[in-house]
Amino acid sequence: MSAEVMSELEHGASGHGKGIRSRLGSHDHGGAVVASPPAFDVERIRRDFPILERMVRDDRLVYLDNAATTQKPRQVLDTLARYYSDGNANIHRGVYTLSEEATAAYDAARIKVQRFLNARASREIVFTRNSTESINLVAHSFGRRHVGPGDEIVITHMEHHSNIVPWQLLCEQVGAQLRVAPIDDSGTLQLDELERLIGPRTKLVSVVHLSNSLGTINPVREIVAMAKRRDVPVLIDGSQAVYHMPVDVQALDCDFYALTGHKLYGPTGIGVLYGREEWLERMPPYQGGGDMIRSVTFEKTTYADLPHKFEAGTPHIAGVVGLGAAIDYLQEVGFEAIAPHEADLLAYGTAALSEVKGLRLIGTAAHKASILAFVMKGAHPHDVGTIVDTEGVAVRTGHHCTQPVMYRFGVPATARASVAMYNTRAEIDALVRALERVREMFPV
Ligand SMILES: *Cc1c(COP(=O)(O)O)cnc(C)c1O
Repeated sequence: MSAEVMSELEHGASGHGKGIRSRLGSHDHGGAVVASPPAFDVERIRRDFPILERMVRDDRLVYLDNAATTQKPRQVLDTLARYYSDGNANIHRGVYTLSEEATAAYDAARIKVQRFLNARASREIVFTRNSTESINLVAHSFGRRHVGPGDEIVITHMEHHSNIVPWQLLCEQVGAQLRVAPIDDSGTLQLDELERLIGPRTKLVSVVHLSNSLGTINPVREIVAMAKRRDVPVLIDGSQAVYHMPVDVQALDCDFYALTGHKLYGPTGIGVLYGREEWLERMPPYQGGGDMIRSVTFEKTTYADLPHKFEAGTPHIAGVVGLGAAIDYLQEVGFEAIAPHEADLLAYGTAALSEVKGLRLIGTAAHKASILAFVMKGAHPHDVGTIVDTEGVAVRTGHHCTQPVMYRFGVPATARASVAMYNTRAEIDALVRALERVREMFPV
């Protein structure tokens, strides 16, 4: 990440998390807490992640597939075990101690998410299964109420399939049109083109914050401002952004923000939709069932208040509690410590990969984070992935659920390394050594 991006991120940050100094990189000087910039103790972080001890055949695991899912710290694993071994009960319905405790833990986690995103109120935080479900919720509920024949939804060329297909389904159902803003050869969004697409028929702009296949960080605050000038609401897919940078939905002024717990060092099966209260109030329920009602008769059902209107059925209580623990962990380490470390890995990795003969990086935007996607002349990405795995290095190969990006760059697939807070320069070196083996097997 460039210094420029960091300052942009700080702008987007509201101070939440800013006072939280890493226990690793802080010194107490007469009562004042002072951060010491290079004091990120990655080895200490690594000890929190038991899986990083794992061997893959004869090699220590080098996990560089964080954009697909991150590993979980002990603090999250312990919270999950404690919840099931000591606190498991269904919520919101019991008057007995255990159920009250589970309900309190569930509600407390919602407040953690609210503070993490700096939402105005916890009723703006809806728990879902993942980002995909968060986006589908908006497509169904907002879409069927506010989008009609001839209307338009604007997205970008770098969206994940989960921010393409729900809109295509909606457009088919209501006779609306999908408009796609182009990207340039570096993987940068062409903002002026996006602006031109936002017109009188536009009902929603939906953009990714940080691209999972290119690493591009989109100027989402500018995009929201652009859309707001035309009274168009904006959804941001924050699946990748939330574990690399502070996010403040009030500063961004967005209407919806989607995230997925398993990329945020939390459990699978739990996601979040932030929605501006004015919108959520006007949107019909997404699913019907228990917990989302106020009263039910065969003649008429009235719905529960926010956010419960959107949380039908028994939720993923353990997942919510585990997500709360993941957010606690992330904030304790602190983005002010994580972001420079990851930026160093990205810069180091970019330089190192550029030295590999016949390697082409896909995604070279000026503002990017975490992602090192590439193709190698003469070797299919799947061969690259398989060969580096023999050295214990885990990278993802394929289209990364962004097939339009692959078509745009004229490649069938890419190999993608993606870094998180626990990765090291030594692991990048291991990747480069493994790629040298690929080069030996597929000489150019
Ligand atoms: C991972 C990802 C998603 C989908 O997340 P799920 O957990 O599969 O719902 C959506 N968008 C982006 C940018 C992603 O990286």
